[in-house]
This record gives sequence, structure tokens and C-alpha cells, in this order.
Amino acid sequence: MSNTDYPVLKLKKNEDRRIRNGHLWIYSNEIDTSATPLKDFEPGQMCQLTDSANKALGYAYINPNTLIAARLIKRGTDGEPSRSFLKKKFRAALALREQFYAERCYRLIFGEADGLPGLVVDRFYDVLVVQLSTAGMEMMKQDVIEMLDAVFEPSSILLRNDASSRKAEGLDSYIESVKGNVPEVARLSENGVLFDALIMKGQKTGWFYDQAMNRQRFMQYAKGKRVLDVFSYIGGWGISAAVAGATESFCVDASEKALDAVHHNAELNNVADKVASIQGNAFDVLKDLRTANEKFDLIVVDPPAFIKKKKDYKTGSQAYKRINQAAMQLLNPDGYLVSCSCSHHMPRTDLVKKTNEAARHIDRSMQIIEWGGQGPDHPINPVMPETEYLKAVFSRIQRI
Ligand code: SAH
Repeated sequence: MSNTDYPVLKLKKNEDRRIRNGHLWIYSNEIDTSATPLKDFEPGQMCQLTDSANKALGYAYINPNTLIAARLIKRGTDGEPSRSFLKKKFRAALALREQFYAERCYRLIFGEADGLPGLVVDRFYDVLVVQLSTAGMEMMKQDVIEMLDAVFEPSSILLRNDASSRKAEGLDSYIESVKGNVPEVARLSENGVLFDALIMKGQKTGWFYDQAMNRQRFMQYAKGKRVLDVFSYIGGWGISAAVAGATESFCVDASEKALDAVHHNAELNNVADKVASIQGNAFDVLKDLRTANEKFDLIVVDPPAFIKKKKDYKTGSQAYKRINQAAMQLLNPDGYLVSCSCSHHMPRTDLVKKTNEAARHIDRSMQIIEWGGQGPDHPINPVMPETEYLKAVFSRIQRI
């Protein structure tokens, strides 16, 4: 296909600035719809993006039905976003990961931040778990799968296209094995700790690689400690702590399936005797533990996003405060708390503010020891704040 085969999408005057500055998203109100009406496009269709003077900016795919009307996938005019372009992007993404990870276990492609809007790929050695989240990426599905196969030569590829965000894009929800015999669980190694991740039926892609570096730091705090892992999922923090020498590690989660996997993973690392699980709503479980006068030396609170949309800020930020306060009430004097948030709308300063408010409310003082963010396999596009979302605040909670 030559360049001229793509229809043009034209921006209004000055609306090219953000794009030229590195952003990839085009909102519907930035488009010159009298020249290039959005209704003329199909969801996922590829176009050539131009500024108001008809100068080509690159290639973008469109969804006329979403607030983000188009996403830039390739800059410039030197050729369309072809299969070889995908290969080049995949290799560039791989080079970054190979710089930092000894094992082939990481987020291999992180959407916008790797210049591939709508595409996420997690790697579990030879198993790839893929999420396509936009109509444009869904249109490229076949090329994406074939090029992933060509570049990484995986034994199996699983599509976890069941994220709720697909609905707004007009996409259906499905899970599909597209190569090989995809296993129910996939083995990964992180900081020398082994996990079998629930890639078929677990959360998102089955594992949260974004916390790997923070879990590595966490392991430094764990020796000789009694640990509580709140919202544990399959035990990422709690089992790492046990491997690093915690005396006991308690994992709290609402999901029975996740806690079954905690015990499995504990066995995998020969720490089954140190790892226990408590099933239930974390808010209730923490209350019960307090009533039972249980105490811990090190607690991590790593919940699902309490603020998914900006409008949820108030209730969500209160939830962060409440759960962190409940955690602090279970800490021995001078215990350590790791407070996390994966809500983009909860900036680090706000998370600290809420955690500190919680501490002061119960007459404790918070000493921040260190910060953590998302690992290098989740790079950040500096002009797209949405690509930065993960915070971990390591602190010591003192009684005064
Ligand atoms: N800390 C985990 C990731 C957490 S994912 C890790 O490092 O891998 C969020 C987890 O919170 C899920 O396992 C989900 O089952 C659990 N969850 C969600 N709401 C909950 C609640 N109210 N109480 C307890 N667990 C909850």
C-alpha cells in the first residue's frame, strides 16, 4: 500500500503543537472536521495526519466514537506503519528490557510509551500475553501477532482481550490462544523468586511486572520481620519477603483463586511454612486483625486503582487514607509501611499527604525512607502524563 492510499485527517490550526512535542493522542475537538469529517472514518481505520497547512505529520489510527479520536503510530512521511516497522519497534522495545533484566520476564511492550498505542505485551520466558485495547490495534492484530512471532519466537501467544476499556472502543471481550499450547499458568522469575502467574484467569495479563524493582527494595526490609501483604493477589510482595528472610508472611486478598496461587507459589520457593493467607475484604480483614491484636513489622498496601476516573478522586483518595490508616494500626512501634497507588489521578504528593494525614490522625509520625515508581519496562512518555501511574512510598511509622 502506498501513502496515498490512506485518507487524510486534518488538524485545526495550532493543534499540531502537542503532537510535534511528542504526544500521540488527538482529541475530536482538535480535528478540522469541515475538511475531514470524522464520520467518514471507520473505527480503527489508518489515516495520514496533517497540520492545518496540509503538512504531513505521520500516520494515526482513528476511532470516531471515542474521546481520543486518533492515536499517532508513526511519525514522518518515510513510509507507512508496515510489518517491518512493527518489527523495528519490537526490537527497540526488546533492547531496553535486555539492558535491565537478566531473565526474559518483563513487560515487553508498554503501549504509548513504547510508541505502540493500544498494545501491551508481557513476557513470561517463551510465553507472550498480549492485550489489544483499541480498535486501531485490533485492526492490526494479525500483523502484530505474526511480527511478535517472528521477532521473539515464543512457544505460545495468548490474547487477553478482556479488559473493560475495550467496550468504549466498540470491541468485544475475549481470551484467545493464537499460538502454541498456552498453559493455564506461566512461570516467571523476579529478583530470584519464582512465581506461576495466572495468565488465563488472573488479573490483567496475570502478573504485575511494574512493581518488580519495588519488590526488590522490599526484600531489603524483610529479614526477621513479620510481614503483611494487603491486596496480595498471588503473593508478589509477601512471598518475596518470605524468601528474603521474613519470619512470617500473611497475604490478604478477596480472591480465593489468587490465594490458592499464593500457597502454590510459596511451595515453589520452599517457604510454604512461613506463608499464610487470609481471604476477605481487606478493609474488614484489617479491622479483624486489629481486634485480634495482631501486630506486624512490615506492611505493604498495594491495592487495585481506587481512582479510575478523575471524578472518583474524592472517594478514592479517602479509601487510600482509610486502608493505610488501618495498616498503620497493625504496625509494631517503628514498623515499616509501603504504600502504593497505581491510580494515575493520585499523584505521589497526594498519596504522601493522605498517608501522612492517616498517621497524624492516630498520633504517629511518618518518615519517608525512599520512593519507588514503575520499573524500566514501563517507560514514561514525558509529555503524556497518563503513561506515569505507579507510586510506592516506603516509610517508617513512629509512635510519638
Ligand atoms: N499487590 C498485587 C497486585 C494487586 S492487584 C501484586 O503485587 O501483584 C489487586 C488485588 O486486589 C486483586 O488480587 C484483587 O483480588 C484484590 N482486591 C480487590 N478489591 C479487594 C478488596 N476489597 N479486598 C481484598 N482484596 C481485594
